[in-house]
Amino acid sequence: MDFATVLKSIVDTLGATVLLPLFIFIFALILGSKVGRAFRAAVTIGVAFIGINLVIGLMWGALSGVSQALVTNAGISRDIVDVGWPAAAAVAFATDVGLWVIPVALLVNFALLLPGITKTLNVDIWNFWHYAFLGSLVTAVSGSLPMGLAAAAVGAAFMLFLGDWTAKGIQEFYDLPGISIPHGFTAPMVPLALPFNWLFDKIPGLNKVDADPDGIEKALGSTFGDPMVMGLEGIGIKVNRTGIEVDKRLRTNHKHIYAAGDVTGGYQFTHAAGYEGSIVISNAIFHLPRKTDYTFLPWCTYTDPELASIGMNEKAAKAAGINYSVWTEAFKDNDRSLAEGERIGKIKMILNEKEKPLGVQILGPNAGELISEWVAVLNGKVKLSTLASAVHPYPTLGEINKRVAGTFFSPKIFSEKIKKGLKFFFHLKGRACELQE
Ligand SMILES: Cc1cc2nc3c(=O)[nH]c(=O)nc-3n(C[C@H](O)[C@H](O)[C@H](O)COP(=O)(O)OP(=O)(O)OC[C@H]3O[C@@H](n4cnc5c(N)ncnc54)[C@H](O)[C@@H]3O)c2cc1C
Repeated sequence: MDFATVLKSIVDTLGATVLLPLFIFIFALILGSKVGRAFRAAVTIGVAFIGINLVIGLMWGALSGVSQALVTNAGISRDIVDVGWPAAAAVAFATDVGLWVIPVALLVNFALLLPGITKTLNVDIWNFWHYAFLGSLVTAVSGSLPMGLAAAAVGAAFMLFLGDWTAKGIQEFYDLPGISIPHGFTAPMVPLALPFNWLFDKIPGLNKVDADPDGIEKALGSTFGDPMVMGLEGIGIKVNRTGIEVDKRLRTNHKHIYAAGDVTGGYQFTHAAGYEGSIVISNAIFHLPRKTDYTFLPWCTYTDPELASIGMNEKAAKAAGINYSVWTEAFKDNDRSLAEGERIGKIKMILNEKEKPLGVQILGPNAGELISEWVAVLNGKVKLSTLASAVHPYPTLGEINKRVAGTFFSPKIFSEKIKKGLKFFFHLKGRACELQE
C-alpha cells in the first residue's frame, strides 16, 4: 500500500470529528498555546462537531414527517433543506477538503505574507470554512481532492487580496488602525457594491437618495427605518440610530417609561445592563433619583490574552485634553505569570496632573479578574500609596496591580534629594558593611 492510500484510509477511518481536533491541537501548540489549552480547544471543536451533527439528525427526524405531509397535502415538491451557515460550516469542515483547509490556508497566507504580496495575516481560523466550502463544492463536481484543495487555496489568497484592498477604508471607517477584514461573506461584497454605488451615483434622482442608515431612518421614520426597533415610534418613544434615547436617569422622552441595557445603545455588557437595571428600579420603583455614571465602568474582552479596562485610556484622556502620565508594568516581570508560562502583556495606569488615577488597562492573563481590584480602588477613591503598600499574596498575578502603583512611587523614593537626605541623616555610605582592618 502506498503512502497516499494509507493516509486516505486513516482519514476515512477516523473522520473529521477526530482529525480536525487533532489538527487544531497541533496548530495551537505550534502557535505557542499551552498543552492544556490546546487540548481544550481541540476537544471543544470535536464536541461542537458531534453536537451539530446530533442537532441536524434530530431536526431531520422531526421535520421530515412535517415536510412529507406538506408535500403530500400541498402537492409541492422540494428537495433542498436550508440549514443555515453554522451547519454549512460544520459540513464544510467535515469534508476531505475541510480536513486540510487549515494548513493549506495558513501556508498560502505565509507564502504571500513573507515576500510582502499581502499585508494581511488571517487569524480567523474558524472562518476558513468558507474556503473549505468552496473546495468541497469543487471536489464534489470534479471528484478530485487536489482540485478542491487548489480551489480552497485560491479562495484563501483571494480573500487576503480583498482584505488588503479594503483595509484602508475599513480602518478609516471603524477608526481601527492595522485592521483588515478578509472575511469570506463580507469582503466579497465590496467588488459588487462599488460598481453599483458608481452606477447609482450616475442615475439622476437616485443619486439624490441618501440611503445610509441615517437617511433611511429619516425617510421612513424609526419604525420602518430601523429593523432593530419596531413599534416604539407608534407610542411616541424616541429612538436614534443606536437605540432608545434615554436621559441620565434612563427615562425615555415619556418620563414614566424607562429603558436599560443594550437597547439604549450604550455599553453593550451584561454588567452594564445590570447596573442600568438597578438605576431604573431606584428611579421608577423607589422614586430615589439616581443617574448613571459610567466613569469607572469596567469591561473585558475575552481574547487570549484578555484585554480589560476601567476609566479613561490614553486616547480618551487625550481627547478630553487632560495632561496625563502613563505608568506600566510587564507580565514578564511577574513571577506567577512566568510560572504559568505567560510572558505577554502589561498593565497601564493613567494618572492626571494631580497624580490621581484616571484609568487602568490590562492586557494579559486573567486581565478580567485583575481589573476588579481597580474597580474597588477607583470607586472607593483608595490612595495609590495604600495599594502600593498593601501586602499581596506571592506569587499571584494580582501583584502586578501593586507593582504598577509602586512604579509611580519608586522615582520619588529613590530620588537624588531623598538619597542625599538619607546620607546626611544616617551617614549612609551606599554599602552594607566595611571590612575590619
Ligand atoms: C456572542 C456574545 C457574547 C457576549 N459576551 C459578553 C461578555 O463576555 N461579557 C459581557 O458583559 N457581555 C457580553 N455580551 C453582551 C451581553 O450579552 C449583553 O450586553 C447583555 O445581554 C445585555 O442585556 P439586556 O438585558 O440589555 O439584553 P438581552 O440580554 O439581549 O435581553 C433582551 C431580551 O429581550 C427579549 N426580547 C427581544 N424582543 C422582545 C419582544 N419584542 N418581546 C419580548 N421579549 C423580547 C430577548 O429575547 C432577550 O431575552 C455578549 C453578547 C454576545 C452576543
